[in-house]
Amino acid sequence: MSETTKPILDLRNLSKTFGEVQALSNVNLKVAPGEFVTLVGPSGCGKSTLFSLLSGLEDADAGSTVRFEDRSVMSKDLLGKVSFMPQRDLLLAWRNVIDNAILPLEMEGANRSQARKQAQRMLPEFGLAGFADKFPHELSGGMRQRVALMRTFLFKRDLMLLDEPFGALDALTRTMMQRWLLDVWQKHKRTVLFITHDVDEAIFLGDRVLVMSARPGGIKLERKIDLPRPRNADAVTSPEFISLKRDLLEAIEEESMKTFGAVQT
Ligand code: ADP
Ligand code: MG
Repeated sequence: MSETTKPILDLRNLSKTFGEVQALSNVNLKVAPGEFVTLVGPSGCGKSTLFSLLSGLEDADAGSTVRFEDRSVMSKDLLGKVSFMPQRDLLLAWRNVIDNAILPLEMEGANRSQARKQAQRMLPEFGLAGFADKFPHELSGGMRQRVALMRTFLFKRDLMLLDEPFGALDALTRTMMQRWLLDVWQKHKRTVLFITHDVDEAIFLGDRVLVMSARPGGIKLERKIDLPRPRNADAVTSPEFISLKRDLLEAIEEESMKTFGAVQT
């Protein structure tokens, strides 16, 4: 991030405790407008908790500072200010594609027929042309994820939080979805925070990859990804990619072993 760009998000000493469990400890992070930041870390290290704080679902501990769009805010002020795709993003079985997509707009009181029209216009870009009236059970896994992503994009906020959106997809579908997401991201110019447990995915997508430490989670390592965009299959076989992957994997493994060790003892 250049010195002159004001971060859209600036976290200082962000911590979160649930009863006896400290999930996050002193997370410090600045995110530039339009940046694509990917987060990796061992299971249970607090990645989803970070998103709960940033989407206003939970409040951070006292002493945490959150600056959003250059204003100091409380977690709860962020409710409705960011687009959030939770890890388990359930489409409502009884709503068709369009009505699932407009759900957040409807909840904030938008005009339903206008929202439907907007959603209709987005269908082709999300590979869903002709599927407006289909219900979730009539769609493939990749399509359901695209409906959930369309819902997140349709709720137009500058900051998007995506929690392992492709975690459940097979490798081929996943690769296609990654490329497609980069296209859509470049067109819509949003800021993205993206959680994944897949290092290749983190490098392929991100401008920057953050490795989180074992619980209590903090930022352990940060790597800038200078691979040129648009990225294609060649990117993942380049020497830069391989060397980044080695560094990141080493850091993740070290943290995962801590989690594993804690379980053993
Ligand atoms: P990750 O997404 O990195 O796998 P989570 O953020 O889901 O990890 O969880 C981090 C830790 O916080 C875990 O130990 C989890 O059990 C705990 N935790 C998360 N949410 C809650 C909650 N609402 N109440 C109590 N404990 C929670
Ligand atoms: Mg999680």
